[in-house]
Amino acid sequence: MYDYDNVSSRFSGFRRPSSFQDLPVECLAVIFGCLNEQEICSAALVCRRWHEASKTPNLWQHADFRLVNKHKYPSAPKRSPHFDLTQKYKDYTAHLLAKHANIRHLSFDLDLNSDYETLAELISSGRCHKLTSVDMKWADSWDYRRWNKLEDQLLFFHSLLVLMGSYCTKLQAVRTQFNWTTESLNYLLAFKNLEELELSSVPRVHPVQRWHIETLLAGCVALKKFKIDARILPDLVYKYSFKSDSLELLDISMSVNLFIVEMVLPRLHTFTAKHFTCYQKYTDICLFEVLDRGCPALQYINDVSAENPGLQNFGMSREQEWDLRICYCTNHCGSGRNIQDVQP
Ligand SMILES: [Zn+2]
Repeated sequence: MYDYDNVSSRFSGFRRPSSFQDLPVECLAVIFGCLNEQEICSAALVCRRWHEASKTPNLWQHADFRLVNKHKYPSAPKRSPHFDLTQKYKDYTAHLLAKHANIRHLSFDLDLNSDYETLAELISSGRCHKLTSVDMKWADSWDYRRWNKLEDQLLFFHSLLVLMGSYCTKLQAVRTQFNWTTESLNYLLAFKNLEELELSSVPRVHPVQRWHIETLLAGCVALKKFKIDARILPDLVYKYSFKSDSLELLDISMSVNLFIVEMVLPRLHTFTAKHFTCYQKYTDICLFEVLDRGCPALQYINDVSAENPGLQNFGMSREQEWDLRICYCTNHCGSGRNIQDVQP
C-alpha cells in the first residue's frame, strides 16, 4: 500500500527535520569526518546508529601508532589489565580492524622486536591495500650494547618490507630508517610506484656506497623527491653519483661526507643541503659546478634562487656564498675561512 501520509509530510515543505537522529548513516559519517579520531570514538558511544556510522572505512585512513599514548580508543577490546605499550598497540590494531579502516597512511615509532606481529596483522588484514604512504621508525639510536637487538630489528624490518611489497602495492611515499645493504635495497626496489623517498641512517657500520645510490635511482623510475641522511665516516673517501630522469627534489641536508662528484638530474629543480657537512675538502671538484653541469632545470639551492648556477654567477655576495657552506672545492674552502669554522 502506498503511504500517502509519508508522501504528504515529505513534500509539505514546512516539516522540520525532527532530530539529528533522522540523518542517514552516510550523512552522519560525513559529519564525523570533521572530528578527530578520539572524538569519533566518543561519538560512537552515543547510540547504535552513531556507532554504525563510526565504522565508515574512510573515517580511518591514518593508522598512527605514535598517537596511541595520547588517545584512548574506547572501541578497542579491554583484553589485558596491563597497560604496557605492546598491549596498547595491539588494542589500537584491533580498534582499526573493528572500524573497517581503509588505511592510506601508516606511521609508527616502535620496537619491531616486540611489536612486529601487531604491524604484520594490520598490514596483512586487507585494510592496507590502498596504503600510499608509510613513515617508519624502528631502530634505536646507536648503542654497541644493543647490537644484537638491532640485528633482530633489521630482520623484522625486512619482513615488513616483504609484507608491504605484497599487500601494499600502491605505496608512493616511504620515510624510513634504512640500512644500506644489498638485501635492504632489493626489498625497497620492490615498490615500483615510489615517488617520494626519505631514508635516514640506521646506526650501522655499513655506509652507503656509490653503487647503492646508482642502483636505487635506476630502479625507482618514478621517484620525484629523494631525501637522504647518510653519515659517512671521514676516513672513507667514497665518490657519489646521482643519476635519475625523474628526480625533481634532492635533499642531503642531514648527510655527512656525502661527497658528490657527479649529478645527471635533468628534471631537478630543488637542491637542499642546509646542514650538510663534508670533511673532504680542498678538492678540485666543485659541488656548484657539478650542479651546473648536470641539472639544467635547477631553480633553488637551499631556498635561494639559482637562476644562474655556477657559484660566482649566482648573483650572490661572497658572504652569501659562505652562508651556503656546502661546497668542498679549493675555491670555496681555501680562501682563509674553513667551512668547519663557520659551522654554527
Ligand atoms: Zn665549490
